Amino acid sequence: MPGCTAGSGTCGICRSGCDRKPGWFLPGEAEKTAAHLGITLPELFRDYLAVDWWVAGQEPVFLLSPAVRGNEAGREFPGDPRGTCVFYEGGRCRIHPAKPHECASTWCGGGPPDVHRTTAMAWQDHQGQLRELLGREPRDQPFSGWPGL
Ligand code: SF4
Repeated sequence: MPGCTAGSGTCGICRSGCDRKPGWFLPGEAEKTAAHLGITLPELFRDYLAVDWWVAGQEPVFLLSPAVRGNEAGREFPGDPRGTCVFYEGGRCRIHPAKPHECASTWCGGGPPDVHRTTAMAWQDHQGQLRELLGREPRDQPFSGWPGL
């Protein structure tokens, strides 16, 4: 399958990712997405983002992600996190110049090894931002997305 042209995110592999589960932001990136859309970070969070998490040892590390369509934005992901990214419109990424690190670094199924875990772990010292956006402590719940995993 041919890859994307100049990192456009339009090949079948990239598009299947946008249809399956959004990539994760690094700390500080959602602010750039908000600026790209001309809105504030709290507005972006309320309307388009959700809190996802990575379980590292005993404690989850919470982080920011685009929400998926059909799930409420401005809160945590459900136990089944699968779904089409809210920014995936007409077969393109609406925030392509300001997309999350995990999306931008994994073109065409490639990208740095272990990027999911390393993106999550970058949030370890930024958990206060999630509390601030939610207005309370974030909560995880049992993962139920991929039976058998
Ligand atoms: S932010 Fe863009 S590239 Fe990332 S999953 Fe959503 S639509 Fe796809």
